[in-house]
Amino acid sequence: MELFINGEWAPSVSGRTLPVYNPATGEIIDSVPAGNAEDADRAVRSARAAFDSWRARPMAERAALQHAAASALRTRKDEFARMLTLELGRPLAGARTEVERTAELLDYFAEEGLRLRGDIPLLNLPDERVLVVKEPVGVVVAIAPFNYPLTLLTFKLGAALITGCTVVAKPALDTPLTTLMLAELFSQVGFPPGAFNVVTGRGSEVGHALVEHPIPRKIGFTGGTAAGKCIAAAAAQTNKRLTLELGGQCPAIVCDDADLDVALPPLLRQTFDNSGQFCYRVNRMYIQRGIYDTFAERFAAAAGKLVVGNGMRPGCQLGPLVNEETWRKSEEHVHDALDHGARLLAGGVRLRGEEFERGYFFPPTVLADTNHAMKIMTEETFGPVVGLMRVEHLDEAIGCANDTPFGLAAFVFSKNLANALRAAERCEAGSVWVNNIHRSYNQAPFGGFKESGLGREKSRYGLEEYLELKTIYLSL
Ligand code: NAP
Repeated sequence: MELFINGEWAPSVSGRTLPVYNPATGEIIDSVPAGNAEDADRAVRSARAAFDSWRARPMAERAALQHAAASALRTRKDEFARMLTLELGRPLAGARTEVERTAELLDYFAEEGLRLRGDIPLLNLPDERVLVVKEPVGVVVAIAPFNYPLTLLTFKLGAALITGCTVVAKPALDTPLTTLMLAELFSQVGFPPGAFNVVTGRGSEVGHALVEHPIPRKIGFTGGTAAGKCIAAAAAQTNKRLTLELGGQCPAIVCDDADLDVALPPLLRQTFDNSGQFCYRVNRMYIQRGIYDTFAERFAAAAGKLVVGNGMRPGCQLGPLVNEETWRKSEEHVHDALDHGARLLAGGVRLRGEEFERGYFFPPTVLADTNHAMKIMTEETFGPVVGLMRVEHLDEAIGCANDTPFGLAAFVFSKNLANALRAAERCEAGSVWVNNIHRSYNQAPFGGFKESGLGREKSRYGLEEYLELKTIYLSL
């Protein structure tokens, strides 16, 4: 595939390309241009040229186009899902869910756009009115990671386009294909040339050039904390607005009085879905002494039954990790924990057999008797490995949960709702789930405390991040 700039496919100025691999088989499935600073400049200028007329379109027209994109995406769900499974490895059922959620997000933002309001403060001044209006921030650079390439891009894209901004997207090296397909789909349903452009290539090259470019006014970024800090530093040179969704290393607290039949299924999903490659997954658990052994045994047994394999195979629950680096990180966290005295309860060793030979497969892995001297309890794994630690009481669990620079999400399980709510209030995290874990809703803000982020995505708060407030003083 090529770059998508100004409503057209275009090669990179350099002519260089990068292969895209299927992480389940190691095969090359396509290639994309290795974009550079000149490509970034072309895309940004195209977005800037489209901005004035796009922001002038009535909100209802922008909303109708966004609903049309959602509808077209639903029609082509299987095609997008198959490509997602090929480039990312996630089992097909989960890939279909991502496509559906992307369409829901587009619909949601279209509707939320129709609810946007300005203010006229009642100042009671006879000859003056004060109007507080909201304006689109301008050209937006949207940089997405590999793990949910469509939905994580749409947190930015859906909010930016409905508010009247235009967008240059930079997908991850590993998963650029579905983003390019999405840009073409938007063009086909009637979005004007330049409203949604995509450049591919390395974050350190074309991504950095986009962040440094003087024209964009905002960066919407999801990715690791290290890259987020680099981007924030570069964006500060031109005082760009920022929304940063960064790394997570999320704790779950399971109290003695938790109902394990209730707690185990969601904790299992939240630990191993997408092979552990999502930001608000459970990386570590603090379990009260009274139920520690029972919990560990039941959790490890359930983890051991999850089916790992090529995501195209029906019934498969965990696909491969996206690349060798991510795969090695899981292995490193297991070795480090075992070296420091942890006990291996499930997984931990590379899967063998024909299906696994050429892909980056790692089994669901449960480590017991961990502590904060181990990487599994302090660094983001981004793979299917979890650490269990025994604690005496809730205060100790909360202290451990907060003993981290991260603050994306936390999870609490207790039948005592007063204790659970107090624990939720004390957890330093942008979202806390109590006694169940389900998806994060489009209507609710999502984002991190501390080094896990800046600003919020989704909900009306996420939409407001793509708007500037302007105060107009009007003398009559
Ligand atoms: P990553 O390595 O930080 O990359 C994310 C994106 O940023 C990629 O498109 C990457 O391009 C680009 N990039 C990297 N350095 C850049 C730079 N200096 N300037 C501009 N762009 C740059 O993250 P990842 O490995 O793809 O994703 C995993 C991370 O994302 C995890 O830490 C996870 O927690 C985080 N995440 C956070 C959330 C959230 O909502 N908080 C959600 C999902 C994921 P290349 O691919 O070319 O390197």
